[in-house]
Amino acid sequence: MLRLEKLTKTYRTGDKALNAVNLTVPKGQVMALIGPSGAGKSTLIRCINRLVEPTSGKVFLDQDDITGLSASGLRRMRRQMGMIFQEYALVERLTVMENVLSGRLGYVGFWRSFTRRYPQADVDEAFRLLDRVGLLEMADKRADELSGGQRQRVGIARALIQDPKVLLVDEPTASLDPKTSRQIMRLICELCAERELAAIINIHDVALAQMFVQRVIGLQKGVVQFDGKPDALTPEV
Ligand code: ADP
Ligand code: ADP
Repeated sequence: MLRLEKLTKTYRTGDKALNAVNLTVPKGQVMALIGPSGAGKSTLIRCINRLVEPTSGKVFLDQDDITGLSASGLRRMRRQMGMIFQEYALVERLTVMENVLSGRLGYVGFWRSFTRRYPQADVDEAFRLLDRVGLLEMADKRADELSGGQRQRVGIARALIQDPKVLLVDEPTASLDPKTSRQIMRLICELCAERELAAIINIHDVALAQMFVQRVIGLQKGVVQFDGKPDALTPEV
């Protein structure tokens, strides 16, 4: 479960990107975050994984307040948060398998150079995940040989190999064609249900959100303007 309590972010420039946002995302729920450019969607996600420091308010992961964590606490906490990115953020010259393993092992170059093998349990888990996302045959291909949809599947497997509690997903389909976008959204939503993950998906495509998620949050000028079922939403919100 993920809970935000009066989460507020004012940037040094004076921009109030988030204004006392209260929000609870239970286990297994995928919540779509929509709103115009500048509404605060990226800031909200970044305040949760602490790429951005909130000005005030709290973030709870299950019962734990993760707002005041030390550097080591922060590292442990980030392992419980899987990230999926718009541009995939894969290491192009590594294989699909190695990209997935990097979600668990961090810098896989270390294992590659010094031990020449990866821990077997992690390799087994990576194979299971690659099978689940439909990329088993691609394990030894380099990331730069893949299509956009395949790359995002690698990104999904890499996030899940951490065994996170929460999934933070930033515009996962913005670089994909409509059919691939639907496949990727379906996959993310199925996996969140299977693994009981609380997920926040920053998505600008309202129609796509309406197809797959049970709950939409509409953000505007850092304030939650809408919280409900996606069918109650008009396209211009
Ligand atoms: P969205 O993701 O919905 O487009 P953002 O969270 O990127 O919105 O931005 C929300 C507001 O905060 C905007 O007014 C934006 O200009 C401002 N903002 C975002 N990042 C920064 C930053 N690093 N420094 C200053 N202002 C920022
Ligand atoms: P996106 O909407 O794709 O997330 P943005 O344009 O919101 O991208 O932000 C791109 C980068 O610029 C981010 O690192 C964000 O924090 C930063 N940024 C956005 N708005 C501002 C701003 N007004 N001042 C300074 N940095 C900003």
